[in-house]
Amino acid sequence: MTQKQPIHVIGGGLAGSEAAWQIATAGVSVVIHEMRPDKMTDAHKTDAFAELVCSNSFRSDDWETSAIGLLHEEMRRAGSLILAAADRHKLPAGGALAVDRDGFAVEVTERLRTHPLVTIERGEIAGLPPAEWDSVIVATGPLTSPALSTAVQALTGEDDLAFFDAIAPVVHRESIDMSVAWAQSRYDKAGPAGTGADYLNCPMTKQEYEAFIAALLAGEKTSFKEWEASTPYFDGCLPIEVMAERGPETLRFGPMKPVGLSDPHKGGARPYAVVQLRQDNALGSLWNMVGFQTKLKHAEQARIFRMIPGLAGAEFARLGGLHRNTFLNSPKLLDRTLRLRAEPRLRFAGQITGVEGYVESAAIGLLAGRLAAAERQGIACAPPPATTALGALIGHITGGHILVEEGDAAEPRARSFQPMNINYGLLPPAPALERDGSGKRIKGKDKTRAKRRAVSMRALADIETWLGRATAPSAAAE
Ligand SMILES: Cc1cc2nc3c(=O)[nH]c(=O)nc-3n(C[C@H](O)[C@H](O)[C@H](O)COP(=O)(O)OP(=O)(O)OC[C@H]3O[C@@H](n4cnc5c(N)ncnc54)[C@H](O)[C@@H]3O)c2cc1C
Repeated sequence: MTQKQPIHVIGGGLAGSEAAWQIATAGVSVVIHEMRPDKMTDAHKTDAFAELVCSNSFRSDDWETSAIGLLHEEMRRAGSLILAAADRHKLPAGGALAVDRDGFAVEVTERLRTHPLVTIERGEIAGLPPAEWDSVIVATGPLTSPALSTAVQALTGEDDLAFFDAIAPVVHRESIDMSVAWAQSRYDKAGPAGTGADYLNCPMTKQEYEAFIAALLAGEKTSFKEWEASTPYFDGCLPIEVMAERGPETLRFGPMKPVGLSDPHKGGARPYAVVQLRQDNALGSLWNMVGFQTKLKHAEQARIFRMIPGLAGAEFARLGGLHRNTFLNSPKLLDRTLRLRAEPRLRFAGQITGVEGYVESAAIGLLAGRLAAAERQGIACAPPPATTALGALIGHITGGHILVEEGDAAEPRARSFQPMNINYGLLPPAPALERDGSGKRIKGKDKTRAKRRAVSMRALADIETWLGRATAPSAAAE
């Protein structure tokens, strides 16, 4: 039998390490190309694989009621190297999975270095990979080297590879008070895919608006890292607090303008100012605050945004931020198995696909590795179902997010897709217990826990089925 060509993985970070491990575990040879230590990024300090560049926490490890904990558990069941090393080097941290970063990175590096099917090549891939590499996973992260990102950008087009993120908060739909907010598009315009009632509008009186502006100005902000400050990203996506600093009326003539909107709770009157939310995912469970990218600290965001009428009880699936980042407009560019439509020999994994966080990056690496290995072996392998955390995450980046290509006056940026952590809003609801053992109706926090638990239980059952099914041989890989 002729030896099959190896799969090439570019980047030995969280995603690349996991992808390579999954490929080798499937019995396929793999070459990892890592540029460190020859060339460092602005954030990495060592030459180790899977270096954690900032916090040492993988967040909550509770699979029953935390979406990130559920993702941990699914990854463990899928034989994740990142989770195995984290479990081995965990530190006391309450309900969170925190790790000894050095021990963790050494473990990942050694497990890969000593695997007979893994070859490690140090050095930058400074352009598109050679044409003879027929299966490549690009997992070069938020700080992809400029030579490679420029080459990728030539394939994707300038607008579809971003060098910073401008994240507006995303709210769980069920936490928006519809006795205050209402659904309406400006001037009731239906547009190409709408109904004329596509936005949720939260109205403000003059007094509420002024108090809100004052809170934005006083709110505590995060600062840029030195190497981020020079990133030229301000065009078209100013943080709201910077807009507020330019004058008290700037937001009322920008994202908070009330024109074309009439409040049905106030007899159809036009509000003084308005905050609009737009549907973010196909399920309709997540809504993003249009034009509300911000560098306010997270606790401040939650406090200040709950001042907005209709959002007093808002639960945030994601809070806002602005960072140096490199990520693709994945819903447009990638197929459902993470291959670049324009050049299918290239698969993408990790933060560059538009997921956010160590674990999410590793999770997409896990899927990219399995999908690439199955393809190499001629085994049919569809991504996991949307009822699992792994499936919901890949689904979000390859189709679950609703793409808004055309910006409007309030949000001139052409791109709506921004990085996302795993959260329950990405998974469809599951039937949950409504009464406890004594027949009493379950309410409040207990009800939320019961709903999450039902989703998690279903996810684990479904991931088990997928793991079994994923190895079934068939004639053609997708
Ligand atoms: C400053 C900063 C702080 C962050 N803090 C956190 C945090 O606290 N918690 C959290 O959950 N997430 C954090 N993130 C987000 C994200 O989870 C991490 O960046 C994570 O490491 C992403 O994993 P990855 O595998 O996609 O990329 P990385 O882990 O960055 O791996 C990419 C690898 O590719 C290599 N590489 C790049 N270009 C090339 C090339 N051309 N050729 C060969 N190799 C190349 C890099 O050297 C690197 O090793 C942070 C991100 C940044 C930038």
